[in-house]
Amino acid sequence: ENQSVRTDVVIIGAGPVGLFAVFELGLLDMKAHLVDILDKPGGQCAELYPEKPIYDIPAWPVITGQDLTDRLMEQIAPFKPTFHLGQMAEALERTDDGFWRLTTDIGTVIEAKVVVIAAGGGSFVPKKPSIPGLEAFEGTSVFYAVREMEKFRGKKIVIAGGGDSALDWTINLQPLAKSMHLVHRRDDFRAAPDSVNKMRALVADNKMALDIAAITGLEGENGILRAVHMNSAERGDYVVEADTLLAFYGLTMKLGPIADFGLHLHENLVPVDTEKFETSTPGIFAIGDINYYPGKLKLILSGFHEGALMAQAAFRYVFPDKKLRFQYTTSSSALQDKLGVR
Ligand code: FAD
Repeated sequence: ENQSVRTDVVIIGAGPVGLFAVFELGLLDMKAHLVDILDKPGGQCAELYPEKPIYDIPAWPVITGQDLTDRLMEQIAPFKPTFHLGQMAEALERTDDGFWRLTTDIGTVIEAKVVVIAAGGGSFVPKKPSIPGLEAFEGTSVFYAVREMEKFRGKKIVIAGGGDSALDWTINLQPLAKSMHLVHRRDDFRAAPDSVNKMRALVADNKMALDIAAITGLEGENGILRAVHMNSAERGDYVVEADTLLAFYGLTMKLGPIADFGLHLHENLVPVDTEKFETSTPGIFAIGDINYYPGKLKLILSGFHEGALMAQAAFRYVFPDKKLRFQYTTSSSALQDKLGVR
């Protein structure tokens, strides 16, 4: 993806708060693009607790993290937001004609009048296994995500981990791979039982190997992997031939590149006012878990409110010459037209 687009608002983070901001912006005629390093919308709700019930969303006595995400997606659909998923918002600069230019780690360029930071607890980044010399192979032979399956055709693959990602990719890549090993410390998997059964069936058919072992080292040079060294109680030290290591040890959240956007920070949070939720830089707003102000509560419902007030202020940047009229969705036919419900 190598595109450059101009829009009204770019939102960093497609968590629940970034998603609802699309709605509030949309009611005021502002178009939004969203960037998220995750490959799906929903932020913490979708990534950390999709099946857990939430009990404090107004008017939803109980709703799971994934259901809340799905409902928000349905609610914002009339405004046709553009998603740039699986990419990190990396650099922010000002253009000569008064736009903000946001560049992602894979080269997407979005220019917008307003930037909304809805980055929550920070960007989700992979936890790395502690294997000596690992860094030397990253990006060439060692990966923490699969963006394109074809890249792994004919490879001698070792997958490390015991959760859903490790099991799903083992099953999906096994047919393409020249050889496949799944390595996990215990013979106990925190993944869907169906996936575990499929994996065990592949092992029984000799289509792949399961190593209940620890990875102790990597062998190869110039970033090109040749073998993975392992140790198990049964076999002691042994070597598995491999040119690819995929490690799925879960995700952790880090503030990431936003720290370098030149904004004032307060303990890795972005201070804002409580009238507009604007940062120290005019035209850049921060809403949801990432912001800080006296009395802040890291709750989804607070983030929704912050999005509504942010949109009122963003309007003045996007449409400096237009008058803003307060309207109810219940009684405004103009708003209902935008929502496509009339
Ligand atoms: P997030 O959900 O954190 O989403 C931020 C997104 O921004 C992430 O997807 C991240 O990948 C992305 N991002 C950040 N930086 C970048 C970057 N530079 N480039 C690209 N993408 C980036 N809240 C409640 O109100 N009620 C509850 O009952 C409740 N229960 C919870 C239970 C658990 C187990 C957890 C972990 C949290 C719970 N919360 C609850 C908190 C709630 O999930 C958060 O308040 C909410 O997710 C914040 O939403 P957000 O959109 O601000 O940020």
